[in-house]
Order: sequence, then structure tokens, then C-alpha cells
Amino acid sequence: MITDVFCKIINKELDAKIVMEAENWLAIEDINPQAPVHVLIIPKKHFNFIEEADDNDKEILGELMLAIDKVAHEKGIAEKGYRVIINQKEYGGQLVPHFHIHVLGGKKMGPKMIK
Ligand code: 5GP
Repeated sequence: MITDVFCKIINKELDAKIVMEAENWLAIEDINPQAPVHVLIIPKKHFNFIEEADDNDKEILGELMLAIDKVAHEKGIAEKGYRVIINQKEYGGQLVPHFHIHVLGGKKMGPKMIK
């Protein structure tokens, strides 16, 4: 059984501030925001890492990319711009083993990487 924190949020076993919800994904406020706007876009289908997705997942992966713009508009950061981050495994600094996309905005980002 998969019991990562994002599966629990998707299954409504754990609370989160939901920004948007669609059939195949959920967007929530990050509990420890690194910018004035910090939203996580999470597929409801569990993947630990992007490498677990295959050709059958093209549609959901496309929906996640389109969700970025929807979230950016919802949070009012679309016009000025924002940063998108996907952390993968240990060296990528991935803490939660459930593939997700960070959308960060609300301030001007420097050229340095975040964390
Ligand atoms: P990662 O390092 O895996 O790419 O990012 C995981 C993110 O999930 C972190 O930014 C962390 O603050 C956030 N996070 C971890 N646990 C929770 C939680 O229970 N609720 C919410 N909303 N965010 C969480």
C-alpha cells in the first residue's frame, strides 16, 4: 500500500489548503512556502519518480503541464512570471516520494537555484 503524505491528502485522510482540483490532479499550498506563492501540483495517480511514467501516462503528464498555467492564473502570478521546479530523488532534494511540480512566484527570483 502506498502511504506517502500526498496520497493521504489526495484521499482526504490529511488536510491541505486546496488551490484547485481536477479529475487527475490536485494543487495545494506548500506547508513550508519558499516564496510568497508556493503551490504543489500533484497527480492523483501515484508515481514516485518521473522515470515510472511511460507512454500510457502521456495524457496525465500533459494535464500536469497545463495545470501549471491554470494555477498561475488562479494565484495571480501568470502575468509577471514564476518558477517551476521538479525535484527528483536524493540529489534532486526530493523529500516526498510522490511526483509533484512546485510552482513558485510572487517575487522576483534570482539566478540561484532554490535550496
Ligand atoms: P520535494 O522536496 O519532495 O520536492 O517537496 C516536497 C514539498 O512538500 C516540500 O516543499 C514540503 O514543504 C511539502 N510538504 C511536505 N509535507 C507536506 C504536507 O503535509 N502538506 C503540504 N501542504 N505540503 C507538504
